[in-house]
Amino acid sequence: MMTRSEIENLLIEYGKLMGKKNLTPGMSGNMSYRYGDKILITASGTANGYLDKNDIVLMDYDGNAISGETKKPSSEKLMHVAIYKKRPDLNVILHVHSPYLSSFAAAGIPLDKPVMAENTFYFGKILLADYALPSTVELAQNIVKYFDDYDAVLMANHGFVVASNDIKDAYLKLELAESYAQIVLNTYLLGGANILSCEQEKAILALRKK
Ligand SMILES: [Zn+2]
Repeated sequence: MMTRSEIENLLIEYGKLMGKKNLTPGMSGNMSYRYGDKILITASGTANGYLDKNDIVLMDYDGNAISGETKKPSSEKLMHVAIYKKRPDLNVILHVHSPYLSSFAAAGIPLDKPVMAENTFYFGKILLADYALPSTVELAQNIVKYFDDYDAVLMANHGFVVASNDIKDAYLKLELAESYAQIVLNTYLLGGANILSCEQEKAILALRKK
């Protein structure tokens, strides 16, 4: 298992990268990492792109900061807790308001058509979870149900969340999903995408098992 300090360094490093790539504007979004029977999560009011070690809080699986922590966990802690409880295989969660994915989230449009082979392979569909007020139990419930079958989901009128067992993989999926959203938006300008057929989609999904 990684030490707390190693995990903090990873969150800082990938947070910076997300900031540089405009995947996490301003103080939006939050990140967390499973740490044994606890969770390390960005503190409330911090910016993913500009974190330092004081901005990462240790909390339990009820979303309470461990005594001695000086900051409060992100207000979206309930969503993080719910995902880790449901999926023991996932170790890291990135929640962002990246512009292209958030455009689809704001327009109420899921990314559920097979338009690009690579995205179909990695995500299947990126569905859209119903809106709920940020930081509420209701929001956590709306999001976590998609983690039965998926590792990423759009959050209506809000943003996007992706999880993985590994932070590099989660980050690369975020980058890929954001560029996918940009591509799909561009296809609207170009008169619409050529949607892959059902057979073509099935053949792509079958590659996952190889
Ligand atoms: Zn958010």
